[in-house]
Amino acid sequence: VIEINDLHKSFGELEVLKGVSLSAPRGQAISMIGSSGSGKSTLLRCCNLLEDSQSGEILFEGEPIRWHGTGLARRPADRAQVTRIRTNLSMVFQQFNLWSHMTILENVMEAPVTVLGRPKKDVEEAARSYLEKVGIGDKCDVYPAQLSGGQQQRAAIARALCMEPKALLFDEPTSALDPELEQEVVRVIKALAAEGRTMIIVTHDMRMAADVADHVVFLHQGKIEEEGPPEELFSNPKSERLKGFLSATV
Ligand code: ATP
Ligand code: MG
Repeated sequence: VIEINDLHKSFGELEVLKGVSLSAPRGQAISMIGSSGSGKSTLLRCCNLLEDSQSGEILFEGEPIRWHGTGLARRPADRAQVTRIRTNLSMVFQQFNLWSHMTILENVMEAPVTVLGRPKKDVEEAARSYLEKVGIGDKCDVYPAQLSGGQQQRAAIARALCMEPKALLFDEPTSALDPELEQEVVRVIKALAAEGRTMIIVTHDMRMAADVADHVVFLHQGKIEEEGPPEELFSNPKSERLKGFLSATV
């Protein structure tokens, strides 16, 4: 679904991604781990056209993501592509980003109705079923502030699912949560992985990284330092940096 080839990205002098190649085939869950500042969020943001890159390419279902212009005028080359890709690579953030003035149901329905122009009645039915699926079907009519962090994050996941995306991108979905609320979100993400959803999950939670993923990628200073199946990567890390990282996070 997503293929990244030799991606380089700098912010001014700072080279944040130094030639990253990664593919997320259909049905695979990939966990991405690495220290703060290693470039994990930047990589997800590049996939979603929230950031441009200097060289290399990102393909979405074989379609290369294109930008044009230079300096302040630099922007995605094709608005339709932006919509297509953001619809199909739905992103879930650490800070839920729900609209505080809309009910949970309205939050989940917003983008499919306004961005995709889907019929309201169908979207409402889908939204209710996704909220049910993440275990907060009874919270349709309340506002985000009335929910716990774990419930808000599950609402954000329902919102992402309601776009009917081809893949889900998670950027530290549990980092803002207390440990006991974290688990309810982890359960939802595990269930999605078990359904065979294509996902890239950036996380500091090594247990979740190991449990949900088919493939784990360790990013270190803008490069993939080591990658492999979770059983191997966690029980038998090869690189000294990964060993150091894992012993520091346990
Ligand atoms: P964390 O685990 O803390 O979320 P991360 O791996 O997601 O870290 P990124 O957010 O991708 O790291 O940031 C990588 C580097 O890029 C950091 O040094 C950060 O300061 C820098 N950076 C990120 N966004 C910008 C920006 N918009 N302008 C300048 N520098 C940036
Ligand atoms: Mg980050």
